[in-house]
Amino acid sequence: MISTKSARELELMKEAGRIVALAHQAIKEAIKPGVTTKQLDKIAYDVITSNGARPSFKGYNGFPASICASINDVLVHGIPDNTKLKDGDIISIDIGACYKGYHGDSAWTHAVGEVDEKTLHLMDVTRESLFEGLKQAKPGNHLGDISHAIGEYVHAHGYSIPMDYTGHGVGSQLHEDPIVPNYGPAGRGVLLKEGMTLAIEPMVHMGKPQTKTMRDGWTVKTKDGSLCAHYEHSIVITKNGYEILTKIPEMEVKNG
Ligand code: MG
Ligand code: MG
Repeated sequence: MISTKSARELELMKEAGRIVALAHQAIKEAIKPGVTTKQLDKIAYDVITSNGARPSFKGYNGFPASICASINDVLVHGIPDNTKLKDGDIISIDIGACYKGYHGDSAWTHAVGEVDEKTLHLMDVTRESLFEGLKQAKPGNHLGDISHAIGEYVHAHGYSIPMDYTGHGVGSQLHEDPIVPNYGPAGRGVLLKEGMTLAIEPMVHMGKPQTKTMRDGWTVKTKDGSLCAHYEHSIVITKNGYEILTKIPEMEVKNG
């Protein structure tokens, strides 16, 4: 069942989203060669808990950390550890925060030091595909319109989309109905309604779309070892369009 949120619920989700954005901001400032993903995890934990929230991911199906930190060919669910970031890496940071029972969920891919043009292009296209999808987020449109816009944009640039990983509804549960695929036909799926809250999250591979899950049961990589990127915002459908709940000032900046 797809819920629409009350004004009070949306206030709590906006606060959750604001805290997620603060954690993203703090991590962005800390990312540089030599920093470990465990250090980044600690930064997010401190920001989230000092703002009266809890990390949504910690303990979710047994996930051991506050953030997912996914480097280079790791698509999603990388577990923070003592791995040091290197110049030329890219890292996708996924953060969830739960404030008074409501979740915000957002992911961002960062360059570590200097990365090459091809990598920057992958990041640009993935981030832009999120906003191409969001252009379709308004009452009266179908969910498939968002999915279609993302998929068309990504495929037009010659990249691929891992079919098994999708966006989702978000609210009192981290993952709610509906599933939000990153590809598919327009004009299908549920009609979007004011008050629906969705996490839209294109994931894009530079190479082939297949993935593999590592032995830890969490870490998902591109099967062909190609680079991948991941951008996500939690949004609410408004009367005339949408509002981003997890907006960070840097989101308008390329490769921020
Ligand atoms: Mg996420
Ligand atoms: Mg999500």
